[in-house]
Amino acid sequence: MVDLRSDTLTTPTPQMREAMASAVLGDDVFGEDPTTNLLQERVAELCGVEAALFVPSGSMGNLVSLRSMASPGDEVICHADAHIFNYEVASLAAVGGIQARPVPGHWGVLDPENIASAVRPAFDTFPRSTVLALENTHNLAGGTVYPIDDIRAARKVADEYGLKIHMDGARIFNASVASGVPVAEYCSLVDGLTFCFSKGLSCPVGSMVVGSKEFIKQAHRYRKMHGGGMRQTGVLTAACLVALDTMIDRLADDHANARRLAGGIKKISEHATMPVNVQTNMVLVKTEQLGYSTSEFVDAIGLEGVKCLAYQRGTVRMVTHKDVSTEDIDYTLDRINAITR
Ligand SMILES: *Cc1c(COP(=O)(O)O)cnc(C)c1O
Repeated sequence: MVDLRSDTLTTPTPQMREAMASAVLGDDVFGEDPTTNLLQERVAELCGVEAALFVPSGSMGNLVSLRSMASPGDEVICHADAHIFNYEVASLAAVGGIQARPVPGHWGVLDPENIASAVRPAFDTFPRSTVLALENTHNLAGGTVYPIDDIRAARKVADEYGLKIHMDGARIFNASVASGVPVAEYCSLVDGLTFCFSKGLSCPVGSMVVGSKEFIKQAHRYRKMHGGGMRQTGVLTAACLVALDTMIDRLADDHANARRLAGGIKKISEHATMPVNVQTNMVLVKTEQLGYSTSEFVDAIGLEGVKCLAYQRGTVRMVTHKDVSTEDIDYTLDRINAITR
């Protein structure tokens, strides 16, 4: 069985399990879990920021970050395909009283002019434009990296209009490994960033919010408000510490496997994959090019022992991760070749 549905399927390594079993623990609501405190310090240092906060999920990380930056009645400008707008049960609106202002983009990247024209005039009938949210890598666009020059351009517009920038960096380490841009450089251009330990980094649970001391103080309050204040979190953060040491550089293997997958599919059907150049660990496959609707393709390849997810616009998503080997990719290609009609 080859499971390409998501990198969230990764399970902890033996080294993580050992670290979890022997972790030194305390009550994190009292700020007394030494393992979690160590993780937060190490992450803050790695990201070149003042402070970091462990949260149960990326979705909670995004929510507490955006609530810390924006107030009810405010608007967050984001890509129309943003995770925060499409996959978080409208929590921004439902829980935060904050409205998303979706803007079209190109492979996950927003045009500075489109950002500027989405900013509301200062007049009391309008929502207040407060935050610009960027996603890196961009999930729905197929794991595309937000180019550093485009982030700089977005920063310039944000400064001009007094917007804060939140980066949904669920897969920021994939972006960093693919682009060679240090995570600290991404962090230096934004006011807050979230990333996940539970995806390619293979931890069972957990995400981080990073930024200034003042921002993290707010996020900490909102985390508690949303029920995310947890006790002996060292059991979880011990795995995250292992991930920092062992799981980042190897993401390059996942990216190579994704390129191998895309290259092989292109040989079967030249225009069947997106994005044109696979950048990180995702490949989107246009199933019509292989003779199937998305749901038919998911079923047909599933019968061959390969799992993938039906996605948007006639595509299925295939994600590489530590539990998918190069042999698994070759097996997958063999099976796609066999069922293509
Ligand atoms: C996975 C993901 C999140 C957070 O997901 P959780 O399942 O809540 O941890 C946020 N943004 C993006 C882009 C993601 O891919």
